[in-house]
Amino acid sequence: MKDKRFLGRQILDHLRFYSDLGVRWVRSPKAPEGAAIKTPEKRVVSSAPAPRAGAAASTYKTMAYSSMFDLVPSTQESLETVRSDLGDCQRCKLWPSRNTIVFGSGNPRAELMFVGEAPGADEDEQGLPFVGRAGQLLTRIIEAIGMRREEVYICNILKCRPPGNRNPETDEIASCEPFLFRQIASVRPKLICALGAFGVQTLLRTTEAIGRLRGRLIDYRGAKLMATFHPAYLLRNPIEKRKVWEDMQVVRDYLLSLHASKEDA
Ligand code: URA
Repeated sequence: MKDKRFLGRQILDHLRFYSDLGVRWVRSPKAPEGAAIKTPEKRVVSSAPAPRAGAAASTYKTMAYSSMFDLVPSTQESLETVRSDLGDCQRCKLWPSRNTIVFGSGNPRAELMFVGEAPGADEDEQGLPFVGRAGQLLTRIIEAIGMRREEVYICNILKCRPPGNRNPETDEIASCEPFLFRQIASVRPKLICALGAFGVQTLLRTTEAIGRLRGRLIDYRGAKLMATFHPAYLLRNPIEKRKVWEDMQVVRDYLLSLHASKEDA
């Protein structure tokens, strides 16, 4: 009885979270025989096969797919090597004010990688990315697509906190980004989710606004890239959560489609 109440509370919390994201419908796991289910129009990922009906989110697992990264195995160094080269970094002007270098955390073979902007106060304190309020929201976003935080890899463009959380500056990005690119080459994700303008603009070498880049999968170094709004922006503008939810559904469907096409092969 106690277990049922606990489960009920968890389901309710989960539904509240979806509602908070602006989700007003959920997909039925199995359509009743002959029933026509009306769902709102869905965004189509043109370059990817459609996910198999009924494919469960729990089918996520780490698998090898061919990509540009697969073709150059000799360049696949471990994250430990990248971290060790970073050392006690003093390459830019951020080092005197930082407490800790925030390198990244998560599954070193993740299919899904999140790239944020720079550590904030909590991250600088703990040495881990996305552990403050924005990080808690990111965790819930990851869980909303049926994944666990430990399954993905999370890092930032900058590894040190800019004083007062100011925006990253060009010279700081230039010093730090080689380490980000090496992290990407090491993890070889199938999909990179760039959080916020700095993430996507650094990765794509563009000045295009995030509002114009988000919402579609972009080819990136043999993987796909999805740009979406930063969780910290969502905390200030909760109305935009709906768009992030739409982006994350595209992410989820693309990853599921990789597994479906692998199983069909
Ligand atoms: N914002 C970021 O971009 N990264 C973090 O790690 C935390 C907050």
